[in-house]
Amino acid sequence: MSLEEINLIWLEGQDCAGCTISIKQASNPTLIDILTGAIPGLGGLKLAFHPTLMFEWGEDAAKVLIDAMEGKYDPFVLILEGAIPDEGKAGEGVFCGIADYEGKLLKLSDVIDGLAKRCAAAVAIGTCASYGGIPHGNPNPTGAKGLLDYLGRDWTGGLGLPVICVPGCPPRPDNMVQVLGQAVLAARGLAPLPELDEWHRPVALFGSTMHELCPICGFYAEGTDAHGFGETGCLGALGCKGIISHCNNTTWVDGYGGCTGTGVPCFGCTEPEFPDPPTSPFFAKAPAMPFIIENITGMLAHAEMGFERFKPIIESLLPQIPEFIEVLDKQMEEEKDKGRKI
Ligand code: SF4
Ligand code: SF4
Ligand code: SF4
Repeated sequence: MSLEEINLIWLEGQDCAGCTISIKQASNPTLIDILTGAIPGLGGLKLAFHPTLMFEWGEDAAKVLIDAMEGKYDPFVLILEGAIPDEGKAGEGVFCGIADYEGKLLKLSDVIDGLAKRCAAAVAIGTCASYGGIPHGNPNPTGAKGLLDYLGRDWTGGLGLPVICVPGCPPRPDNMVQVLGQAVLAARGLAPLPELDEWHRPVALFGSTMHELCPICGFYAEGTDAHGFGETGCLGALGCKGIISHCNNTTWVDGYGGCTGTGVPCFGCTEPEFPDPPTSPFFAKAPAMPFIIENITGMLAHAEMGFERFKPIIESLLPQIPEFIEVLDKQMEEEKDKGRKI
């Protein structure tokens, strides 16, 4: 498989196009940097299909999908935004048609089936595409699921990579371009493969909780809670789910914004359960157990840190203790003698 020229085929399923709006705001690098080959090693990428951004429309656009399923766009990376419904539940209707070609409606699931057989790699962009997200929220009337469930955890693309998930509703703009960029660099042997966690999220981006990276965690540490929106303090009492959410959204675009930093409680949008419990109800407090565990480990760690800090002082005092005890003994003996004399 020659990887000098790689096509990107971006499908939108049960989505709101919010992930697309988000990626357009990427700044490090920008989407334009990626698509114009400004980043070393990333030249030769072409956005062959994107329902919101491409110039072609109608049958001209649909023809790209038909051709891609026939191998005319190989090699390509399949990118999905939005969930995949279960068309078996649609009765005589269709839940998600994405194009018309020669009088035939192309269903999302059929196009994914056709493209997944020949794509070099598959990337799920956003929580809808990764795990089902909002469309699969209880009671999930369309049987929506994410690409990880749809293709299966054991599925691998032409390059041997499993589905890579970049969750978030929407994901942070830079996360998307960074993951796409690394996937292409890895495919060309210019970067290591991204290490993935059990939910196929890149560990480099989703290895910490929002609580661990929170820009206002100082308020939590000093015990200052906000009890109303706009108040200064940790947002835990307002329903923040940062302690159970794997995220790096400390800022949003180019160092600005971000959820908790702008006074918005985290509602766990990167988690597979989102938007169902425990990420919801959004303004109900997060489960207590992670906070209890964190407090116990935190107290032990602080005690150890304090001991390490005072250890040199304690050690410098230790040699003087026998001398101090001797002086004390002597004084007590003198006091006893005084008592006997009286
Ligand atoms: S993940 Fe969120 S922003 Fe992205 S398509 Fe789904 S609902 Fe929209
Ligand atoms: S509970 Fe939320 S606002 Fe408070 S420190 Fe954790 S992540 Fe930040
Ligand atoms: S902080 Fe929470 S709500 Fe905000 S992007 Fe991260 S996981 Fe989603």
